[in-house]
Amino acid sequence: MQLYLVTGAAGFIGRSIAAALLARGELVRGVDNFITGKRANLNGLEAMEFIEGDLNDPRVCAKACEAVDIVFHEAALPSVPLSITNPIATNQCCVGATLNLLMAAQAAGVRRLVYAGSSSAYGDSPTQPKHEGMLPEPISPYAAAKLAGEHYLSAFSHVHGMETVVLRYFNVFGPHQDPTSHYSGVLAIFCRKMLAGEVPTIYGDGGQSRDFTYIDNVVHANLLAASAPAEKVRGKVMNAATGSRITLNDTFHHLRRLTGFKGSPLYAQGRAGDIRESLADITLAQKLIGYEPIVGFPEGLRRTVEWYRQSEEKSHAAQAYPSLEYA
Ligand code: NAD
Repeated sequence: MQLYLVTGAAGFIGRSIAAALLARGELVRGVDNFITGKRANLNGLEAMEFIEGDLNDPRVCAKACEAVDIVFHEAALPSVPLSITNPIATNQCCVGATLNLLMAAQAAGVRRLVYAGSSSAYGDSPTQPKHEGMLPEPISPYAAAKLAGEHYLSAFSHVHGMETVVLRYFNVFGPHQDPTSHYSGVLAIFCRKMLAGEVPTIYGDGGQSRDFTYIDNVVHANLLAASAPAEKVRGKVMNAATGSRITLNDTFHHLRRLTGFKGSPLYAQGRAGDIRESLADITLAQKLIGYEPIVGFPEGLRRTVEWYRQSEEKSHAAQAYPSLEYA
């Protein structure tokens, strides 16, 4: 049986990939240092072997990669604003950690490493949709760091013949995404606030658009990338998104209906490093790994709101009855 390693397993996407693997009966190991991940995200993943540790430590990487066949590398500090105030931390968690992991994976004979790339690699180019043949134009330290990780994968693929695959995600959303920090994904923040009757803030005029991708689609793309024939995917970079876009203003209106929020958003000045439009061309992933989105935006948003609603209710119940576990 194959052993899978998921880095960033206590994070939003990592725990979702681990859960899908466990549901298929696979052997899974996770590693996380909880820099942004949550212990609560490990609930339900008890069958996963878990290592608490920092991938900046080569010993942690060596232990994590031992006897592993396939790695899903999700660990990173995934925030544009944080990368502007603290680019060193971003570099450590996105570049240093990735290089350590690649070296350990190479030494342990890992067959394939699937990397969480980012649409931020495309920068603010007016060309839509974004396709993988475009010259990368990172406009934030986060984008530069995620792109550096891609280039290290490419180098390891060329030099060592490692089967590396990059999936560039575009604004992923869904259950388990942390809604509590300024750096959280916009949909997670909006869901939490609007369910609580609080006014969400839209930075800019709200006309900026995103290829919001429900988590199940990203998990699906990862599983396909892990099992596709090596000759099709080795060294490849491909978008993992939906191929459709929606503005923040329209998203707000969808959420207004789903949450029952009655107010209007607060508009604030746009943020440095933010991108105006983001739409993926998913043709390459369709061709190479047979990827198609499996959950559309409206249904994904409905499931997401429902999940935040239920976790909010559980959290209130846990406060009232502390013996109940908060999921
Ligand atoms: P997340 O913050 O929920 O998860 C990242 C996890 O990595 C966290 O649990 C964190 O504690 C862990 N981590 C970070 N540095 C580590 C280190 N040095 N050692 C061990 N663990 C470490 O973020 P996410 O949204 O799940 O993102 C997962 C991946 O997807 C990231 O690589 C991110 O760059 C990429 N990505 C995410 C999105 C999105 O919309 N969420 C879009 C594009 C790309």
